[in-house]
Amino acid sequence: QKKISISQIKDAAQEAFDLYKTNTDGKNADYIPYLANINKNLFGISICLLNGQTIQLGDTEYKFGIESVSKVHTAILVLRQYGAQQLLEKIGADATGLPFNSIFAILLENDHPSTPLVNAGAIAACSMVKPIADPENKWKAIVDNITDLCGSAPQLIDELYKSESETNFNNRSITWLLKNYNRIYDDPTMSLDLYTRQCSLGITATQLSICGATIANNGTNPVTRKQIFDTALSPKITSLIATVGFYEHTGDWLYTSGIPAKTGVGGGVMGTLPGLFGIAAFAPPIDNAGNSVKAQLAIKHIMNKLGLSAFSGD
Ligand code: GLN
Repeated sequence: QKKISISQIKDAAQEAFDLYKTNTDGKNADYIPYLANINKNLFGISICLLNGQTIQLGDTEYKFGIESVSKVHTAILVLRQYGAQQLLEKIGADATGLPFNSIFAILLENDHPSTPLVNAGAIAACSMVKPIADPENKWKAIVDNITDLCGSAPQLIDELYKSESETNFNNRSITWLLKNYNRIYDDPTMSLDLYTRQCSLGITATQLSICGATIANNGTNPVTRKQIFDTALSPKITSLIATVGFYEHTGDWLYTSGIPAKTGVGGGVMGTLPGLFGIAAFAPPIDNAGNSVKAQLAIKHIMNKLGLSAFSGD
């Protein structure tokens, strides 16, 4: 990878922050009542280098709903517990080209949910988490894994969990359709509850940038120096993220930004640039595919300004 100095990265991040902080495009997610009411002006950018150094701008310590970014964490947990081959067989690793909440993700490929990074596959992933039939310890495994990856613990936002549990009708139908095709590997209601709870965890942009850096650093958390997952899993995780991280906008995202990244309707985006850094940006207003408008603009600006791409031979 290209050699880039920390001051070049800092300047690019500052420029992106200044350029987009007053942008008013997009709209908070409103299908989850809690998210509709979050301050829409919050904006943060965090970059974690592989030596553990972080660059932070704006609201990087604000705890927002992790939402679908947590799909990456739990996919990693399933990879840690089962290995790469079983994740491929039980869930899949394909693009869907569909919105995150599409029930068709289950029907696309011989009843596989396609990928752990859309709702269907993420609910299946929660069902796979060990120990099977033990909701308390499954939840502990999910939270401990996020803590390992992010270097510190996430915190459940009770109000978000309640808000989401009361309105997740689409996810309930996905869960039962999965059950119908034998793609739920534990109790369906409990698996959906774990998924809903993990989406309701509060996380900061700083924590997500550390997770992105852990993936970029072959499984060793650059801040805690702990080896979290096997080095061989790193490209598997990055390829899952690259394939479907922005749902139906994934191709456009990769083409314009050059960085594998995963979004959530809470306004977070977590990117991972192998061998260089993890980056996260957070701003609540999202576009029609559920991806944060300002976070996308900021990360794209930084990547393009630095002339970086995961797909370049530099
Ligand atoms: N919890 C949300 C849902 O299942 C997550 C969606 C997202 O962030 N794209 O609808």
